[in-house]
Amino acid sequence: MRSSGRLLVLSHAPPVEVSRRASGGRPRRAAGGLADALNDAMREHGGMWVAWTARAADGELAPADTGLAYPVRSVGLKERDATTFYAGFANQVLWPLCHMFPNRCRFQPAFWTAYQQANERFAAAVRAEAAAGDLVWVNDFHLSLVPGLLRAAGVPVRVGLFWHLPFPPPSLFGVCPWRTELLAGMLGADLIGLQTDGDTQNFLDCVRHFLDLPSDEERTRVRLPGRDVHVVALPVGIEAARLQEQAEDAAVRAHASRLRTTLGADVILLGVDRLDYTKGIPDRLLAFERFLERHPEWRRRVSLVQITVPSQFHVPEFREMKRTIDEIVGRVTGRFSFDGRSPLAYVYTAFDLEQLAAYYVAADVALITPLRDGMNLVAKEYVACHSRGDGILILSEFAGAARELREALPVNPYDTEAIRRQIVVALAMSPEERRTRMQALGAKVAARDVRWWASSFLGLLAGYE
Ligand code: UDP
Repeated sequence: MRSSGRLLVLSHAPPVEVSRRASGGRPRRAAGGLADALNDAMREHGGMWVAWTARAADGELAPADTGLAYPVRSVGLKERDATTFYAGFANQVLWPLCHMFPNRCRFQPAFWTAYQQANERFAAAVRAEAAAGDLVWVNDFHLSLVPGLLRAAGVPVRVGLFWHLPFPPPSLFGVCPWRTELLAGMLGADLIGLQTDGDTQNFLDCVRHFLDLPSDEERTRVRLPGRDVHVVALPVGIEAARLQEQAEDAAVRAHASRLRTTLGADVILLGVDRLDYTKGIPDRLLAFERFLERHPEWRRRVSLVQITVPSQFHVPEFREMKRTIDEIVGRVTGRFSFDGRSPLAYVYTAFDLEQLAAYYVAADVALITPLRDGMNLVAKEYVACHSRGDGILILSEFAGAARELREALPVNPYDTEAIRRQIVVALAMSPEERRTRMQALGAKVAARDVRWWASSFLGLLAGYE
């Protein structure tokens, strides 16, 4: 590694769950993902995590407070400003824009102001901490202006920005009033990571279209006066080994078989999503209703478990979406329950990974049909829990994961009739075909896990090729 600097990681959320209450006790480790994947690198390089920990004043959580090997620097933001930045610009402008729902965007100038200010606060924290040669990993779309701010200030660090959302084409990104500022902010980085080739190509098209900046022939770099920005597709992975271990755990398997007994069906289908309009939950439930209408022979033999996790941030759409889902669930249950048993089990809560693993193991078919998704980790988690080669994945063509998980049954999530047809295909699939497909999927998920993803990005940032 050429750089000998420390690693500074920036994300909106901290790597530990921090209580909002002042008396809140010891922070709990946040679940999985990036924090665990970066532990080794943090130990090797030393460093710090910079995040908003729901506090108005700047501060620091020492390793003794968190159990982490490094300190967490807390960027102070008043709750109101943090909400306008996060629930406002991040979740009501960038989220719908990048998932291709332009009509759901609220282009309020106050949101943009709060986003700029919050990004400035994060950049200021880096300026205060950074030494020459440090590596700065800016994680996700909440902080896309930070790279530009650091470059403008001449901070002598290498900056990588990983963007977890899909990236839309110019015709769509162009509706955003702040399109040039956002792109210019991102291009302050040395390295920009996105999930898929489609996303990198859309990003490069936007850069050419709105900033008139060319890319190289291979379309992996943006050419700026005096420097290049490397743009790479690196699909985020999961903690595959941990999931696989969970799925083999005796308690998890016992829980899975209790679930199967309680559900009382020959075949169990499973959907798992946060409550979000991008996830296609109503369309999926309507497709299942259609399936039950068209295939009466399956009504008493099949069960769809839909786990919906309440969203942590509140935007008006989510209330409307919850009402729509509740209505469909009520109708399907009313229409198709028989002898006190419903073919649809709807759970509106969040499970921990161990409980979730039991549902993954219990399910014969995962029905994962987001209308658009940067990656969709649930699809990969389901695969990791089926390393024995059973199980079938029905996967939206519009999830980033579909680019890698080619052995899944693909589906257009807007087409409820196509979802119905793929359920029929899944129910008729031979054990041999199930095994062949699932083993191929499992090999990919295991090889490109979250550690592979984090170390690849870090390697590129530090100057490995
Ligand atoms: N998840 C969870 N508990 C639940 C349901 C989901 O912890 O009850 C987790 C799941 O394990 C996965 C994440 O939530 O890691 C969802 O990630 P995904 O990429 O599928 O969608 P996102 O919510 O990030 O859009």
